[in-house]
Amino acid sequence: MNIALIAHDKKKELMVQFCIAYKFILDKHNLCATGTTGRLVSEATGLQVHRFLSGPQGGDQQIGARIAYNEIDLVLFFRDPLTSQPQEPEVSTLLKLCDIHNIPMATNVATAEVLIHGLERGDLEWREIVNPKSTSGVS
Ligand code: PGA
Repeated sequence: MNIALIAHDKKKELMVQFCIAYKFILDKHNLCATGTTGRLVSEATGLQVHRFLSGPQGGDQQIGARIAYNEIDLVLFFRDPLTSQPQEPEVSTLLKLCDIHNIPMATNVATAEVLIHGLERGDLEWREIVNPKSTSGVS
């Protein structure tokens, strides 16, 4: 599966901890991320992460384009709802694109835990029918 990781600044440490905890699941999948999130996760875990641009420089939109092509199977976007973000409209764009394609998207760690356990259990295997490329990498 192709998994996209994005974390706002105040949620990056949480994302790193999440990826350390679930490294044994994540390392069976193709990971991509916005620039800083991807760097922090790969430095902390050793996981291979395809890094797009930093979110404010367009990384969110690059991931959005993959979602629009239905190439992403799971989005983990740890939002910080209490800090105003320069690229706020991109968040709703990603939500909309995920809703168009029925792509599971977590916007907080509690939902992410449910989805990652579901992923491990095989609950998302139907995505391989929708997106046959999901076993062959993101880019
Ligand atoms: P970043 O982008 O991982 O490059 O910081 C995330 C964001 O959209 O804030």
